[in-house]
Amino acid sequence: MTVTVRFAPSPTGHIHIGNVRTALFNWLFARQNDGAFILRFDDTDTARSKAEYAEQIERDLRWLGIDPDRIAYQSQRMDAYDKAAQALKDAGLLYPCYETPDELERRRKIRLTRKLPPVYGREALKLTDAEKADLEARGHAPHWRFLLPNFADDPFAPERTDVRWSDAVRGEQSVDLASMSDPVLIRGDGTYLYTLPSVVDDIEMGVTHVIRGDDHVTNTGVQMAIFRALGAEPPAFGHHNLLTTASGEGLSKRSGALSIKSLAEAGYEPMAVASLAVLTGSSTAISAMADMEALTGAFDITATTKSAAKFDPADLDGLNQTLVHDLPFDVVRTRLGDAGVDVDDPRAEAFWVMIRSNVKKVADAADWWPVITDRPAKDAALDGDDLAYARAAFDCLPEGTVDPTLWKRWTEAAKAQSGRKGRALFMPLRIALTGRAWGPDLSDLLPLLGREEILRRRP
Ligand code: GLU
Repeated sequence: MTVTVRFAPSPTGHIHIGNVRTALFNWLFARQNDGAFILRFDDTDTARSKAEYAEQIERDLRWLGIDPDRIAYQSQRMDAYDKAAQALKDAGLLYPCYETPDELERRRKIRLTRKLPPVYGREALKLTDAEKADLEARGHAPHWRFLLPNFADDPFAPERTDVRWSDAVRGEQSVDLASMSDPVLIRGDGTYLYTLPSVVDDIEMGVTHVIRGDDHVTNTGVQMAIFRALGAEPPAFGHHNLLTTASGEGLSKRSGALSIKSLAEAGYEPMAVASLAVLTGSSTAISAMADMEALTGAFDITATTKSAAKFDPADLDGLNQTLVHDLPFDVVRTRLGDAGVDVDDPRAEAFWVMIRSNVKKVADAADWWPVITDRPAKDAALDGDDLAYARAAFDCLPEGTVDPTLWKRWTEAAKAQSGRKGRALFMPLRIALTGRAWGPDLSDLLPLLGREEILRRRP
């Protein structure tokens, strides 16, 4: 059977690095197993779901290098859910309830004072047809609960019922179905919570592995029971740890700063984001993976740690810089062009190869382009002895071709003439040439400038 996974975001906001951890775990697992990846929008909550968020999520995934084999929208699959709900109703496993939230809260308190577990007591199961008809005639629309299989014969006498599975990340897991309330699958307004549609889709789409955050471990107990109630064998499950901020808070779709969209707009490399999203919280060291193939090779779902993983956005800068330093010109050409570098200029490629080790992000290179092709920046200036030294040094620029050896020849001549060495020897020349006290290797810079331009920059 083809390994089939799905990423099931609800399009109610922008996805962040924690969400794409789930997407990437699925994508990498699929790639390791020659499998298929489904992007399935969990958009049954029509009030909060928005088409523009779904579109952005798809763009974000493609930006990262995830190319879904199939895209599905749950909002378009209502017939399938209605059919499954009807089958459960017919089997007596989905039953109507009429309690208000206040009533449920009151009952919960009573159960607590009686030292009973604060779960739903299944009172609605006792309603007669006449009572239900009466409630509905008085305008009470039912919500529907799934009858958890946590009893032998009498639903009012639940007993410990462990659902077990061997989790791809966490190892042996179990959830006691007697410790939970029968879950509501259909709201009073007739809309579905995500629980049932997810199972129906997993069955109909042939999902073999459900890989998701460990906030869903309890759901898995419930959903495994629903798979079986619908006559299907549950798929394999894997629950990875969630990412938290450095101070330990969970990431939220509302905390826009770490959204994938904002990281892309800030100029981070997709592989820096992907490497950090996947390798944080695992026993594999975090390093910048050059491409998806390398990350696929490094990814080990069983190496994921079980506790929440703190992640530090500052790590992105280091990873990004490492990647940028190796990017070839043809990969960054368009982006350099967008940032203002004249990529058709014959010097553009040599410029990039020189400057890439001095920038944190590709677009930062644009700031150097006019410094090289037009005139020095004005960030640093020369005066006093340094100015006099630089003028004299420019006057002893060696003859011959302007190649990467010129810098060495020039500074040797300047040293002999001035007696200066080290920083005092180099820095005034750097400042004269670029107007900055830091920057690219001057051996590379001189050939880009050419003799005439070098001399034009004599201070
Ligand atoms: N929409 C759910 C979530 O994002 C999907 C959970 C699942 O993968 O089953 O948490």
